[in-house]
Amino acid sequence: MKIKRRDFLKLSAGGSLLMATLGPTAALSNTEKKALPPDAVGILYDSTLCVGCQACMVACKQANKMPLETEDVYRRWDNPQDLSSKTLNIIKRYQDGSEATKDQEQDGYAFIKRQCMHCIEPSCVSACPVSALRKDAKNGIVSYNKDACIGCRYCQIACPFNIPKFQWESTTPEIVKCQLCNHLLKEGKYAACCSACPTGASLYGPMEDLLAEAKRRLKLEPGVYANFPLNRIGPDGSNRTTSHKVGQYVQHIYGENEVGGTQNLMLAGVSFSKLGMPELPDEPFVRLADGIQYAIYKGMAYPLALLGALIYMIRKGENNGDHKDKA
Ligand code: SF4
Ligand code: SF4
Ligand code: SF4
Repeated sequence: MKIKRRDFLKLSAGGSLLMATLGPTAALSNTEKKALPPDAVGILYDSTLCVGCQACMVACKQANKMPLETEDVYRRWDNPQDLSSKTLNIIKRYQDGSEATKDQEQDGYAFIKRQCMHCIEPSCVSACPVSALRKDAKNGIVSYNKDACIGCRYCQIACPFNIPKFQWESTTPEIVKCQLCNHLLKEGKYAACCSACPTGASLYGPMEDLLAEAKRRLKLEPGVYANFPLNRIGPDGSNRTTSHKVGQYVQHIYGENEVGGTQNLMLAGVSFSKLGMPELPDEPFVRLADGIQYAIYKGMAYPLALLGALIYMIRKGENNGDHKDKA
């Protein structure tokens, strides 16, 4: 089992402390993978098909009404450098040497899309003392309820992918992260980043279909042309395809097993560690945390959660008072 120093710190500083709030989960052994929810949906991101156009980032901002990173009204474009309280997804660029060849580790470049991974066993959900984060029992989307949140930021510490962001700039801060555009589902739409992707690099659909598609791609012969589905697959898919020359894939589906599996799968032509993805064990943090320091922190978590809630409510009250005074 691979656990790096960063993972260990996450476990000790976050997972264990936060697990203490809820107590141990668990009937499954550390190596047993939890089944996906019955109607699990997700995203397959294929770095070899990504051209870095950032159409997914623009679509995400629009669909989720996210503000620009800059307040400068004269700027015509937004240029986020990382995920933030204003940016739910980002395309990052790996580059080396002369950057001559795409999807090549040496003297090459490649893209990677970062967003919430919608873990099968999300440690943010386990860490949250007030169930402001929850995993949908049917489709598996990890969503956030701002009305329940007390602003403790445990979820930030617990997430192995460093995803949830906090609105430091707000007097009534919320946690911000991709919720797989679940607000669009009732309109018959789906993840905006996938519906906007012109190359098939971001693909939405049922997890079973996405995993089968990922496995199919890994078997394709590099250098030959092949068809790739566009935007969405599965029973509701568009059946639209696009033809691309097959890249040289790293034989690894990132997210298939990491921390118990995620509903955001990734393929790439450059090693995932070079692309900035953390090297994580297959065991979910939630279960790894069980037993470690449980007794030590048992008595601390409740007072901390209570203190966080009190501070948050006081700040919220002050802010409401400010508004009333100005009215
Ligand atoms: S990636 Fe982080 S924020 Fe997203 S579900 Fe997993 S633990 Fe939660
Ligand atoms: S900041 Fe909010 S969502 Fe995150 S763990 Fe605390 S209460 Fe839950
Ligand atoms: S699924 Fe929706 S919220 Fe998540 S990254 Fe894509 S567009 Fe943004």
